[in-house]
Amino acid sequence: MTTAIRERAQLVYDFADGDRSQTDLLGGKGANLAEMTRLGLPVPPGFTITTEACRHYLDRGEEPQSLRVQVTMALRRLEDGLGRRLGDIQDPLLVSVRSGAKVSMPGMMETVLNVGLNDYSVKGLAEAAKDERFAWDSYRRLIQMFGRTVLDIPSERFEDRLDAVKTREGATTDVELSPAALQGLVEDFKDIVSDATGRDFPQDPREQLDMAMRAVFDSWNTDRARIYRRRERIPHDLGTAVNICAMVFGNMGEDSGTGVCFTRDPATGKQGVYGDYLVNAQGEDVVAGIRNTLSLEDFARLDPASHAELTRIMRRLETHYRDLCDIEFTVERGKLWMLQTRVGKRTAGAAFRIATQLVDEQVITRDEALTRVTGHQLAQLMFPQFDADAPRTLLTKAMAASPGAAVGEVVFDSATAVARAAEGRRVLLVRRETNPDDLEGMIAATGVLTSRGGKTSHAAVVARGMGRTCVCGAEEIDVDAEAKVLRVNGTTIAEGELLSIDGSTGEVFAGELPVVPSPVVTYLERGLDAALEGVDEEAADLVRAVDRLLRHADRTRRLAVRANADNAEDATRARSLGAQGIGLCRTEHMFLGDRRVLIERLILAEDPPARDAALAELLPLQRADFVELLTAMDGLPTTIRLLDPPLHEFLPDRTELAVKVAVAKATGDGVSADDERLLAAVERLHEANPMLGRRGVRLGLLVPGLYGMQVRAITEAAAERALAGGDPRVEIMVPLVGSVMELHLIRDEIDGIVADVQAAAGVDLDIPIGTMIELPRAALTARRIAESAEFFSFGTNDLTQTTWGFSRDDVEAAIFAAYLEKGVFTVSPFESLDRDGVGALIRTAVEKGRETRPGIKLGVCGEHGGDPDSVHFFHYAGVDYVSCSPFRVPVARLEAGRAALVDDTVGGEL
Ligand code: ADP
Ligand code: MG
Ligand code: MG
Repeated sequence: MTTAIRERAQLVYDFADGDRSQTDLLGGKGANLAEMTRLGLPVPPGFTITTEACRHYLDRGEEPQSLRVQVTMALRRLEDGLGRRLGDIQDPLLVSVRSGAKVSMPGMMETVLNVGLNDYSVKGLAEAAKDERFAWDSYRRLIQMFGRTVLDIPSERFEDRLDAVKTREGATTDVELSPAALQGLVEDFKDIVSDATGRDFPQDPREQLDMAMRAVFDSWNTDRARIYRRRERIPHDLGTAVNICAMVFGNMGEDSGTGVCFTRDPATGKQGVYGDYLVNAQGEDVVAGIRNTLSLEDFARLDPASHAELTRIMRRLETHYRDLCDIEFTVERGKLWMLQTRVGKRTAGAAFRIATQLVDEQVITRDEALTRVTGHQLAQLMFPQFDADAPRTLLTKAMAASPGAAVGEVVFDSATAVARAAEGRRVLLVRRETNPDDLEGMIAATGVLTSRGGKTSHAAVVARGMGRTCVCGAEEIDVDAEAKVLRVNGTTIAEGELLSIDGSTGEVFAGELPVVPSPVVTYLERGLDAALEGVDEEAADLVRAVDRLLRHADRTRRLAVRANADNAEDATRARSLGAQGIGLCRTEHMFLGDRRVLIERLILAEDPPARDAALAELLPLQRADFVELLTAMDGLPTTIRLLDPPLHEFLPDRTELAVKVAVAKATGDGVSADDERLLAAVERLHEANPMLGRRGVRLGLLVPGLYGMQVRAITEAAAERALAGGDPRVEIMVPLVGSVMELHLIRDEIDGIVADVQAAAGVDLDIPIGTMIELPRAALTARRIAESAEFFSFGTNDLTQTTWGFSRDDVEAAIFAAYLEKGVFTVSPFESLDRDGVGALIRTAVEKGRETRPGIKLGVCGEHGGDPDSVHFFHYAGVDYVSCSPFRVPVARLEAGRAALVDDTVGGEL
């Protein structure tokens, strides 16, 4: 992170000065507050401190000098506009100090409310509001939030004290506490602060504000924020903006309250508004799931005027943003205030349904709809669901907060969830309510179940954001985290017992329920009619939405999508999922099992006749493999790669064999001649760095007859298919070429065999011969290589290994966690293509290959072919197709369509 702040750079923007396009600088929250202000909606006034100031602070450990002055000016403008002073003795202005990064990170960072209260202004507030209870409640909230987030005092210290006072006063909720009790609580809280920090709670309002601002900056780098960003692939160097916003109060009595609402249901995508409202409450009370909330219908009965205005604003915002909006609001004594809006996060299913709804309402175009859904979401919809016909024991039904079918051992705390998941066990995290400290446990768990809080509670929001299954607000469940049991309607379930939760229905079942394919998979494999049979209206609506958007993607995309498949079964599956060919058929899997002995014989052959005999036995087996494959892929291109891995992979383990031979010698049992020869071969073939050794085309050139046999089998299979009236479109691919000479040499052999077989069979076949580009040298000398290659296929797994010098098997466990943590990269280059490095090589090869051979066919067959981000890169890089595992084919189709519509060239040199 380097930031040299320009002299006189504007670091502070009034809400009235910004707009929604400025999320880089003002963060999402700030930009949207500005946008709502511009729209003339009732937003309390305030200003935003830029992310640039934050980056500077995080970089240098102190604010830029001019920031203090600019904050003073903005604060004075705010005070003058309202005719009140921050923390004044009479009718004080109070503010909230709120975090807000470019990308929303719900619940990850800090906010402090009621800044400006102290021992004097609290009295002024009580007088101005004519409400003692409210003033002391606000003050205790300030000390509590400030203590926790700014001074790092464990929140339990405050909560325990609050609980103790509630018990003493016989109050079940905090609203029942008397002004005197709250005043006493303030004294207790101040004692906690001086006890924990050795300093009194700061009384100077400006000092409070400055400290809170720094705490918000610092919250960018908390562990949980870093973990969240890593998961969501958000760069660590964006920083957060800070929003200073005049306070409005939802805790001013029964005619006040605070709420969250959505313009459509973010969990299911159902049409119609959705929301939660809490009477006489402030800010985070809704999200914290502390008290149970009212629905918007209840709110309408309680306060028809505010509800009517909220409804108007919701519609206005949806019209403005043309998408589902997520809104925070507060009612202060009957007056509605808007505190936040953003385009809301939603579940995968909701994303597809809402996108097509908006098309039908003619609010967005079909192209826009396609940009509103992602391959990642489609992948989520392909997860299995519970089998509706299986016997089941329903324990309870609660809120369906984030869909999916999750089964796991019950655990009651985050640490246990993480520990057990690390052992490879499936766990379900069960909590009364979750808070930001539970994040790691939520990531580790297959699902989350809470007994309190609504669809807008922390658990629900975070689970939805990361695609975790979640059922929340299961009030019938009594969670006893200390005893590590939960009790529900007479059943007791202890830690470690299995539970199944359905995040689409909110149902909780005892034990493990079997799962069945999702209707989306049925649709993808067997078509719309099959998928619509016997499903409910919601599922049918979803399947239709997926169908429409996927078909639109197919119409829109330039990239073809093929699959990586090694046998006829996978090929058939891939074809049904929309694959337009096979981009990579690996032949090594054809030498395993029974056939291993034949390869062994080939390796051990001591003279050409022995070798030819072994190859002759392999030939018909290989031919049969290819006939099957070409039958399944009739009419579609099928790229078959000649043998790639080093031969010792087919031999027994070196150590085991050595021990066996040694033991036999020692016991005098006599060593078998076979074993001894095998051991000699294993030792001869042993490599320190197999990845960089005798593999790929090097095998073809060094093991006489091996590639020849494969080429003969492929060509004979194609001839057989052609003679049977089929349409075989086979392509032969040579792996790991680094120099055009290698390809020239191997082609001499290949071309001869292909010609021989055609002549013998009396058929005319068109079999392109090409190569993989998986070494930097191949990419850099692509102009020469294209002289001999009729197509290129980028093997991005090996190209990533050889470009970075990473041995994937070694570094992923040993290095990547640290590299991700240190921000060397935000995502593993094996997961998502490294655009700057590996991508640059690909673009070079594309350009040079086309110079030599303008029509050269270019594809990608590494795992990146199914990664959404990488698909976009390949689109821009101008390759002709991507190839990925069959299950990823629909994802790649969708993303290829999106790539043709969205301009997301950022992050690469393109
Ligand atoms: P988050 O990003 O976690 O939602 P926010 O900054 O939005 O954090 O604030 C937390 C809570 O406090 C929200 O419910 C918000 O509506 C409320 N809040 C923030 N600022 C104010 C304010 N000026 N007046 C009243 N409530 C506020
Ligand atoms: Mg908020
Ligand atoms: Mg490779």
